Amino acid sequence: MTTKFRFAPSPTGYLHVGNARLALINWLFAKKTGGGMVLRLDDTDEERSTEEYAQGIQDDLMWLGLEWSELKKQSDRNAEYTVAFDTLKASGRLYPCYETGDELDYKRKRQLARKLPPVYDRSALKLSDEEKAAFEAEGRKPHWRFLLDQEVVAWEDDIRGHVEVDCGSMSDPVLIRTDGRPLYHLPSVVDDIDFAITHVIRGEDHVSNTALHIQLFKALNADAPTFAHIPLLMGPDGGPLSKREGSQSLRELRESGLDPMSINSLLARLGTSDNIVMRNNLDEVIEGFDISRFSRAAAKFDPAELRNLNAKILHEMPWDKAEEKLSLPTATEAFWLAIRGNITAMTEASDWLAVVDGPISPVVEDQAFLTSAAELLPVGDLDEGSWKIWTTAVKEGLGVKGKALFMPLRQALTGQAHGPEMNKMLPLIGREKALARLNGKTL
Ligand code: GLU
Repeated sequence: MTTKFRFAPSPTGYLHVGNARLALINWLFAKKTGGGMVLRLDDTDEERSTEEYAQGIQDDLMWLGLEWSELKKQSDRNAEYTVAFDTLKASGRLYPCYETGDELDYKRKRQLARKLPPVYDRSALKLSDEEKAAFEAEGRKPHWRFLLDQEVVAWEDDIRGHVEVDCGSMSDPVLIRTDGRPLYHLPSVVDDIDFAITHVIRGEDHVSNTALHIQLFKALNADAPTFAHIPLLMGPDGGPLSKREGSQSLRELRESGLDPMSINSLLARLGTSDNIVMRNNLDEVIEGFDISRFSRAAAKFDPAELRNLNAKILHEMPWDKAEEKLSLPTATEAFWLAIRGNITAMTEASDWLAVVDGPISPVVEDQAFLTSAAELLPVGDLDEGSWKIWTTAVKEGLGVKGKALFMPLRQALTGQAHGPEMNKMLPLIGREKALARLNGKTL
């Protein structure tokens, strides 16, 4: 059997970490089983869906390296949804309802006040043809509900194991709104059937939807796919993800200089019992991937962990890879090797390049010391050995050692109290700038 997966975001916003995790898990499972992943844009909500978000989602997935085998838009498929609507209507599984939002609200409140579950009472099912005609004459348009079989729906979930949901305690879901537009359920199931999706992997907030979808698959004479429901992400303290932690868009993470492999490495293993280790490429992530390793418990997402992984990636990144990502024309391999251990995000590289290239304002506390030190700078080209030779000469010549020796030199040469190893920085800065800075000049 060829497997086929789908990632189905709504283009009503940019992707965030939670979406990216679902996309990645679908993609990995597809790769692992030699199948493909459809990117399905759930854009039935015309008011909130935009072309900009649709494009942004594709850009973000490409950035992560998660290519799709087909791109589908629900807005292109109204004809197919109408066919399904007609089928369900013909088999008596769809019925028109005329309650307004206010009327439904009132019903719900009354049920709650009587401590009853707020389940739709199916009163529209009892409407006579005359009553329906009277509503239509009033100008009311119906919305359409799916008549659920009031039974327990069960499936074997790839993550949750045997799941049972009692549809007897659920409201018949509205499939079509009064303006004739389909809501999420019908297009989702029709697409899963038409695109021959074999596995639906989505968030566990969809568990009860899955029960009703299984009924819809059956009502449309199709086999239901295999389901897997991924537990949601929580913040590091076990509470809901805050805006800062999790709802940060991938776009923001990208702009903050994160490498996509830090996100892929973390999200592919978060919520499993596997150790989270930095992976250099997606092939390495595919290798150890196994859906059954995901736990049923919610996973904690800690942005600090992401930063740590990212730092590890950068600390080991070879120059040829860094060069592609840097887009800094004056950066050299020696520069990269000097600074990579000191950055946690790629964007920080340009700060160090600005230190090397200048101009910077040296931090000077004791100009006399620096002027004397400058006179001891080794002659000829500066290389990685020069710092040691120079500082030994300063130590012996001026009788200063330890922090009192190194800190003023670093601060004068880089304008900073901390940073990459000075034996590597000194040759990058070069004699001319080093001498100027030691003499307190901005260069
Ligand atoms: N657009 C839906 C969502 O983002 C898709 C859910 C599904 O995978 O069926 O929640």
